[in-house]
Amino acid sequence: MKIPKQIRKYCPSCKKHQLHKVIAEKTKAKPTTRKRALKWGVRHYAFISSGYGGSPRPIIHEKSKTTKKANLRFQCTKCGKSHFKQHPRRVRKVELT
Ligand SMILES: [Zn+2]
Repeated sequence: MKIPKQIRKYCPSCKKHQLHKVIAEKTKAKPTTRKRALKWGVRHYAFISSGYGGSPRPIIHEKSKTTKKANLRFQCTKCGKSHFKQHPRRVRKVELT
């Protein structure tokens, strides 16, 4: 989805339409380090799923969703305050033009 770098839209703090800068926010990466890999829950799960019988929880093999919600921030050029879109669209790719 192509989005212009500047959009004229309503600013809640100025209470009128102003020119806004569009900033695509980056999603947070999940931590790669595992804290307490041998804690009770992990040991219990390993004990239950060992041997015959399989896993007690359903195994999800693939992601069902191919799109993400566009995480866009709109910064007012007049007052400098920024706000988010309330109900973002699901898009595959965000392109600022
Ligand atoms: Zn403003």
